[in-house]
Amino acid sequence: MEGFLISKTVFSSCELGVFDVLLASERPLSAEEISQAIGASLDGTQRLLSACTGLQLLNTHQDKGRVFYSNTEQASVYLTRSSPVSLYQSIQYSSRTIYLCWHYLTDAVREGRNQYEKAFGVTSNDLFQALYRSDEEMLKFMQLMNSIWNICGKDVVTAFDLSPFKIICDLGGCSGALAKQCTSAYPECRVTIFDLPKVVHTSREHFVTEADQRISFHEGDFFKDPLPKADLYILARILHDWTDERCIELLSRVYKACKPGGAVFLVEALLHEDGSGPVTVQLYSLNMLVQTEGKERTAAQYAALLAAVGFTDIQHRLTGKIYDAVLGHKET
Ligand code: SAM
Repeated sequence: MEGFLISKTVFSSCELGVFDVLLASERPLSAEEISQAIGASLDGTQRLLSACTGLQLLNTHQDKGRVFYSNTEQASVYLTRSSPVSLYQSIQYSSRTIYLCWHYLTDAVREGRNQYEKAFGVTSNDLFQALYRSDEEMLKFMQLMNSIWNICGKDVVTAFDLSPFKIICDLGGCSGALAKQCTSAYPECRVTIFDLPKVVHTSREHFVTEADQRISFHEGDFFKDPLPKADLYILARILHDWTDERCIELLSRVYKACKPGGAVFLVEALLHEDGSGPVTVQLYSLNMLVQTEGKERTAAQYAALLAAVGFTDIQHRLTGKIYDAVLGHKET
């Protein structure tokens, strides 16, 4: 019932920069010092710090009857902006976008569709036009997509041995975070990131540098434009955005473009076959309802979509983290 109190405490502490101020300080700080550094009321800051302590995000130290605060290791690693595995941008997106959509969850369940119109006043006839309703929103979405692969991208790309596939196309490859994990795990591969033109421009500008020499870009609409020829097509968190009909439309195009002997690699959070869990994925599926046209699926459901367009020898691997992998082959 009160889970959202915890989420909002984390969102606000990050937004106010509590964990960043404590990371920058060489010693534990008092509530007065923190409230001044973040420009907030003393009373409000004291209550926020107290709640963060209860949530084990902050440690307290007593000195001559006064209380001083420092980050727990978890807060330093995941909640500060500068950490290499920071979830700060994801938390910002959860706070400013996802939370607002979830306000209309009851309507989403009643109507069976996403809630962009009520939450943001934009029509959702074109899903990604609604998601990318401004350049700023698009950048925030890309930062959200980017962050998780710094934490569990390696587990995903090594769930199967992808070394036989030298020419890889990452469809909807977004910020290129998974492409980078591929080139680092498989030194012989080259990855082309295929995405909408404005996403490609932003990815070039903010995320992928000249140093990533084995990564290139291809602008286009994967429902309409020709797909580059490749040995392996990655679709990471793509199918969960779409209905079964749209998935089959996209996968048929992938199957046609795929070289004989090639494969398709899906990266998704898999539901248990009987739908009994994992709870994170059950909740993600509700998130897909409020935010997209799709849903989370079981391995068998993904296998059925792949088989429907001709892929064979379909296998899946659970990584033990949030995202799992499904591999389907095109016969030689
Ligand atoms: N694969 C990335 C990841 O897992 O981090 C991003 C997944 S994101 C949910 C979906 C991606 O598909 C976005 O980068 C989006 O721009 C891209 N996309 C959506 N519709 C597209 C289309 N019609 N053609 C090409 N890319 C599209």
